[in-house]
Amino acid sequence: MDIERFVRPGIKEIQRYEPGQEQAGAVKLSSNENPRPPHPNIVAAVTAALAEANRYPASGSPQLTSAIATRHGVTPDEVMVGNGSNEIIDLLVRAFVAPDENVVFPVPSFIVYALIAKICGVRGVGIPCSDYRLDLPAMQRAIDAKTRMVFVCNPNNPTSTYVNASEVDAFLAAVPDDVFVVMDEAYIDYVDAPDFPESLKLRRSREGLIVLRTFSKFFAVAGIRVGYAIADPRVITTLHKVRQPFNVSRLAQAAGMAALGCAAELEPFARETVAERARVRDALLALGLACPPSQTNFVFADLAESDLDLFGELARRGIVVRRLGQFGAARAMYRISLGTPAENDRLIEAIRDVFHHHPAAGRGRPGRN
Ligand code: PMP
Repeated sequence: MDIERFVRPGIKEIQRYEPGQEQAGAVKLSSNENPRPPHPNIVAAVTAALAEANRYPASGSPQLTSAIATRHGVTPDEVMVGNGSNEIIDLLVRAFVAPDENVVFPVPSFIVYALIAKICGVRGVGIPCSDYRLDLPAMQRAIDAKTRMVFVCNPNNPTSTYVNASEVDAFLAAVPDDVFVVMDEAYIDYVDAPDFPESLKLRRSREGLIVLRTFSKFFAVAGIRVGYAIADPRVITTLHKVRQPFNVSRLAQAAGMAALGCAAELEPFARETVAERARVRDALLALGLACPPSQTNFVFADLAESDLDLFGELARRGIVVRRLGQFGAARAMYRISLGTPAENDRLIEAIRDVFHHHPAAGRGRPGRN
């Protein structure tokens, strides 16, 4: 059988998602994970759920849905839990974007927006970031009569920057009401900017605004896969029709419940990451790298035209970071997740060593503050 011949148009050209790399014994700073293992209460809850793993999970995650609703002061019919927020991006495009319509997203940004558009056979319109930030005016201008959904990754992965409340207000005022606006806030727990938009409040004046959150970062359960959407009940009802019957595993639902119970205890670790990002960024700036201010649990390093293989140099020194080929960025851009303070010490020491041996490499562009 000529199997290749029957691969649906658009699927063939897709490059398989490449996760952040790992290397035995190395510090893994390539996937924006929480560097610490999950809270013991989460481990205990998942272990207990495992004993009942012969039973299917509760379809629609009702208990976790209610707990999330309570946390955010919304009603359970405004919440949908997914197998990571990743799944919800997929469901949204499948449920709401017709084949002749398009979705608008920033570039570089979370690669899954473009990937899902391709899988669904809808046109993806990628709008370049400007100065490492989402170019909301350009994204708004790119919206045409066929645009059904816009992804606003805030703060943005991989550039680490954010767009503020007044920028988002102006954007929403200019985007037609019949375009869904998806505010993907995977990194919101690391935001300390006082003018960060309050997306949950913005929903009041825009029915088609969808907020995505995840348990993968702050709650440190990326390996369990649980995330959620907060949206109009009609959006949620529709997503439930499209999801698989048991999309969120019994273990994931248990992890989510336990995680919500220990949020306060996890807060100091997020504050530590916020402090660490200033320290790591200062070290990169001192080496002459362009490194935009971050509101996330990672930093973005731009080596511009440099032909230094920072990925390879760091890997040789036991540190694995993310090269940004898949984000559609130039070769000399890197995303470096923040680790524990000890891991970040190792990172800083390794980068200093690399630049000691390649003194010209960081001087492609001036560091900024
Ligand atoms: N959105 C963004 C911007 C992300 O960076 C990620 C994870 N890297 C996700 C969504 C997906 O998160 P998850 O599926 O783990 O909830």
